[in-house]
Amino acid sequence: MSALKKALESLLIERDPQKSLQNDPLSFVHRYEKQYDQEIAAVFAAQLAYGRVASFFPIIEKILDEADHFGGPRAWVNAFSNAHSQRIEHIYYRLNKSPDFALLAVGLQGVCSEYSSLFSCFQQGYSTDHDNINTALDAFVANISRHAQKRASSIGWKQSTLPRSFRHMLSRPASGSACKRWNLFLRWMIRVEFPDLGIWDIPSQKLIIPLDTHVHQISLMLGLCSQKSANNKTARAITESLRKLDEKDPIRYDFAIAHLGISGSCQKKYVSSICTSCPLQTVCTVEKRI
Ligand code: SF4
Repeated sequence: MSALKKALESLLIERDPQKSLQNDPLSFVHRYEKQYDQEIAAVFAAQLAYGRVASFFPIIEKILDEADHFGGPRAWVNAFSNAHSQRIEHIYYRLNKSPDFALLAVGLQGVCSEYSSLFSCFQQGYSTDHDNINTALDAFVANISRHAQKRASSIGWKQSTLPRSFRHMLSRPASGSACKRWNLFLRWMIRVEFPDLGIWDIPSQKLIIPLDTHVHQISLMLGLCSQKSANNKTARAITESLRKLDEKDPIRYDFAIAHLGISGSCQKKYVSSICTSCPLQTVCTVEKRI
């Protein structure tokens, strides 16, 4: 076993996934038992997963409280109308205002109506011949966008173009974006091992790492990539480096690496009191300042 794999295995053993889950947007998805509720809850939770956990958790809570008021995320999306849109007018988070959430709801409504579930829609764009999930993700997001555009008037959106903040939600691999939030959503849906849900039957080996700032900086220190830009190419480079450690499940360390950063256990600089007890210290190239 390589030193890197050994170190990452130690990280997995050291970090309690149940504890990390309490500070992860995936915890919201675990509230639901039915796949069709989990899929919808996961889209909203993943799309709001930027910035500080303490800031976006209450927003996910508000959105899902509203969904639960109407019988759960899928029932809420299925019935979503202008009246539902007005009820969430007070909800916003940083770049995203309430029309973005309403447009996402009607986009998902259209997809569910055309394909019966988000998984069925994703499957339509997927082929076992694809190297990774990028092509299928591109088609999936394009479908949500198409339906949101078609149904925008149903939630009172009168302009011909959809808001920029909403279009930002619909980032696509073809544009070069790392699509962190969509890749996070796909990890939740596809990987079987806890805390991921494994409810979509797509091989984990096709996943691409959800590239957030923590994962990127720690990956640089571990030599998993050399690219300084957090784009799709970098996400693929990290995934390919990790594939050498686990061919079938390259992003199995993602949750543990991300939470090493989220929890503040890694400051992405040498801190003697932290680094000397870090499971990655033997392979981390962080510059030691004595
Ligand atoms: S050794 Fe220090 S800088 Fe490197 S990953 Fe661990 S905590 Fe982070």
